Amino acid sequence: MRYAIFSDVHSNLEAFQSVLQEIEKLHVDKRLFLGDIVGYGANPNEAIDLLKGTADVTLAGNHDFAAIDMTDVSYFNPHAKEAILWTKDVLTPAHKEFLKGLPVDTVVDSITLAHSSPKEPQMWHYIFNIFDAIENFEYFNTRLCFIGHSHHPVVIERNSEGKTNASKDQIIQLNEASKYIINAGSVGQPRDKNPQACFVIYDSGNMTVEFKRVQYDIASAQEKMRKEGLPDYLIERLAYGK
Ligand code: ZN
Repeated sequence: MRYAIFSDVHSNLEAFQSVLQEIEKLHVDKRLFLGDIVGYGANPNEAIDLLKGTADVTLAGNHDFAAIDMTDVSYFNPHAKEAILWTKDVLTPAHKEFLKGLPVDTVVDSITLAHSSPKEPQMWHYIFNIFDAIENFEYFNTRLCFIGHSHHPVVIERNSEGKTNASKDQIIQLNEASKYIINAGSVGQPRDKNPQACFVIYDSGNMTVEFKRVQYDIASAQEKMRKEGLPDYLIERLAYGK
């Protein structure tokens, strides 16, 4: 089976469309979305419509729940908060209802999926480093767990001897005896200093994980955000991927 796994679209329609076009060419069997379809960008309703027509599995992220008052935004930075208030204003009632019904984690074909962390998926903890990951390996029973949330693509492996290491290689051959936490990066707001949209192809047949990067029309996404009066900081960071 070939899976396209993607996360953190954040209302960036241009990035999302480009990623879906690329996925189309890659002949995948399933499309798995790890949450945060909204927040930050200018097209929350359009992004949800596109998602509903394409994803086989959809999770909610913290921004999705923030936009429908299902999670606390007091820890959000001021820019994120401003974007969420705007998103809340423009989301259609039907789309709010859609977000309300989404899970924050699930298991599909023996693959664990969570937006933030397998340990306490609705507490929105970040897995930023190996120490965060080590704790989390105890909280899922499958060999693979895919996450999003930090917008930093990475593969963290715990081998059969209990040793943990992280890799940012583009293609990774998975070991039969290891357990993995894999961050799929972000479609709509990459933060690893590469502004191109990011997603993952997981091939369960040959046991590979490959990070894909896709160019998209950043200027057009920025222009729409400007028109909506979204924060400059959020507009500018798209060009730098951070
Ligand atoms: Zn996010």
